[in-house]
Amino acid sequence: MALLRDGQCVGLPTETVYGLAGDALNPAALAGIFAGKNRPRFDPLILHVAEGFALEKIAADIPPVARTLMARFWPGPLTLLFAKRELVPDLATAGLPTVAVRCPAHPVAQALLREFGGPLAAPSANQFGRISPTTAAAVADELGDAVPLILDGGPCRVGVESTILNVSGGAVTLLRPGGIALEEVTAVIGRVGRPADGAVTAPGMLKSHYAPRTPLERLAAPWPADRALPVNVALLAWRGFAGADGERRRVRVLAADGELSLAAARLFQCLRELDALGMEKIFAEPVPARGLGLAINDRLERASAFGI
Ligand code: AMP
Ligand code: MG
Repeated sequence: MALLRDGQCVGLPTETVYGLAGDALNPAALAGIFAGKNRPRFDPLILHVAEGFALEKIAADIPPVARTLMARFWPGPLTLLFAKRELVPDLATAGLPTVAVRCPAHPVAQALLREFGGPLAAPSANQFGRISPTTAAAVADELGDAVPLILDGGPCRVGVESTILNVSGGAVTLLRPGGIALEEVTAVIGRVGRPADGAVTAPGMLKSHYAPRTPLERLAAPWPADRALPVNVALLAWRGFAGADGERRRVRVLAADGELSLAAARLFQCLRELDALGMEKIFAEPVPARGLGLAINDRLERASAFGI
């Protein structure tokens, strides 16, 4: 707590991924977050709040549909965009008139937020553009000395970042698929808009992101059972791998039972492990484009892109 009050950052477990958390209303703390993960300042941050936090302090307008969504999905992996109040530093929103807010479900995050009282900005605790951390050990690998304290809350339950919805402009639009399936949202509020060309875009959502150091290539179909996996290639498999025993060391299966929630929870750790093998390439099998599969495919697409 003393660290946070002093404008420093701490590694924080949430149910989505680990965050690098700092006082969202203190520009010095925000600057520390951007510097700590080499994040460009045009990429806005999400403000995390405790259950029951007086949202009116940071959001200028809370439409009824937002109240419906919060009642159903908070605490949880859903981020909402509101018109921001003056109190929120421009650094937090990259100069945008909207502020992104989420109430995380992880008990450690909730306890810290309750005690801190105000909002904490907490982007994923990785070097910018790299694989998000889903364990405390992964945070230490990514940020090491840059963070004075990492709270260990165990492996993240959800494993992919929050779903982001813009509720600030009348119609609700999807800015990023994530830990709450779109089908769950539409079941509660009906239609959710997508950007005109079907692409999911938000400022800071760069084409290349979540990337391992090993080049990643998405496959159009599962790896054929009768084909040997080249010795310099690793495979991120969806439901299983029928190849030779000797090849298994280079394979991670996301969800043998076909559960997309399990696949999401394992995604970043599996990528991290395959990356550590130092192969020439990682192949990734396709995952069904429903439920959390939307978020998984989005992350794999960005992990496979080069440049920005
Ligand atoms: P994360 O990297 O998980 O902390 O999420 C931050 C992402 O939320 C940014 O990269 C943006 O895509 C999105 N975001 C945050 N604030 C805003 C905002 N005011 N307007 C649009 N997107 C935002
Ligand atoms: Mg991130």
